[in-house]
Amino acid sequence: MIRLSLLAALLLAAGSVMAEPPVAIAIHGGAGTIVPEKMTAERESAIRQSLRQAVHAGHEVLAEGRPAIDAVVAAIRVLEDSPEFNAGRGAVLTNTGTVEMDASIMDGSNLDAGAVASIKRIRHPIEAALRVMHDSPHVMMIGEGAMSFARDHGLEFMDEAWFITDFRRRQLEAIQADEQAGLQLSESWHSTVGAVALDADGNLAAATSTGGMANKRWGRVGDSPIIGAGTYADNRACAISATGHGEFFIRHVAAHSICSLVRLAGLDLDEAADRIINETLKDAGADGGVIAIDPKGNISMPFNTPGMYRAAIHPDGRFEIGIYRESE
Ligand code: ASP
Repeated sequence: MIRLSLLAALLLAAGSVMAEPPVAIAIHGGAGTIVPEKMTAERESAIRQSLRQAVHAGHEVLAEGRPAIDAVVAAIRVLEDSPEFNAGRGAVLTNTGTVEMDASIMDGSNLDAGAVASIKRIRHPIEAALRVMHDSPHVMMIGEGAMSFARDHGLEFMDEAWFITDFRRRQLEAIQADEQAGLQLSESWHSTVGAVALDADGNLAAATSTGGMANKRWGRVGDSPIIGAGTYADNRACAISATGHGEFFIRHVAAHSICSLVRLAGLDLDEAADRIINETLKDAGADGGVIAIDPKGNISMPFNTPGMYRAAIHPDGRFEIGIYRESE
C-alpha cells in the first residue's frame, strides 16, 4: 500500500516536471555574396522583418501541436509573399523576363513528397507541391500540367506582373549587360527560400520554393524541386532545405547525402551538413548553404558564401537570426 502511494507520488512529480516534447524550426531566404557593403538599411530591415515573421508563423503551428508539414508551409507562404526573396512574389526573372517557379516538400514520417517545376502565376508554389503530395499518386508535376492540376485544386493564381519587382528587373538588365560584354558573373545571389521543422510528435518536414537562377532559359530547373538534391526529410536522420548553385546540388544529391551521413555513417548533424557544404560542394566550386534539423531538434545552418538569410527557433525557445557570418 505504502509502496503504491509512493509510486503514485513519484509518477505525479515526474509528470509535473516532464518536459513538453521539443519543437523547432529553421528557415532560409538564400545564400550568396551577401555583405553589408551591398545592402541598404531599408532592404536589410525588410529582410529581417520577413524572416522573423516567417519563422514565427511556422513556430506557432508547431506550438499548437500541429504537424511539421503544416509548419513549413506556413513559413514558406510568408516568404513567397515577401518581395525580397527569390520565390513567389519577387522571384528572379528568366532570360525573357518571365517568372518560372519550382517548389518541393517532404514529410519525414513516411517519405511522402511533392514537387512542381516551371510553373507560372501560382501565388504559393509550395501549396501546389503540397497538393501534389497529398492529392495525387505522383511526386512531381511540371509546367502546364502542374498549373492545370493546381487550378483544379482551387489554388490562387495572380497576374504575372504581380510577381515582378523593380529589383529583379534591374538585376536581369545588369546580368544581361554583363553577358553581352562577355563578363563572367563574379557574384552569386541565391535567395531561394526554405524551411525545416520538428513537431511535437517527433516528425520532421522540409520544404523549398524558388524562382531558380536569374536569366535562366530553355526551361532550366535547379535543385529546389528535386527530392534528394534541394529538399529531403527522413525521421530517421534529418530534414534539409538547400540554397545555392543548383546544378551542383543535383550532381551531389546534397540534401540526401547529408541525411545519409547522419543515418548510415553516424555523423552528427553539424558534421554531416558541414561536410557536404564546406567540403564536397566547396571543393566542387559550388556556392550555397543548407538549413538542417534532426529528430532531437538540433539545428545546423552552414553556408560557404559570405552570407545566408536565416532564422530559427530552437527547442528551448531561443530565437536566432542571421544574414552575414555571425548569427544574433
Ligand atoms: N538553388 C536554386 C537553383 O539552383 C537557386 C537558389 O538557391 O537561389 O535553382
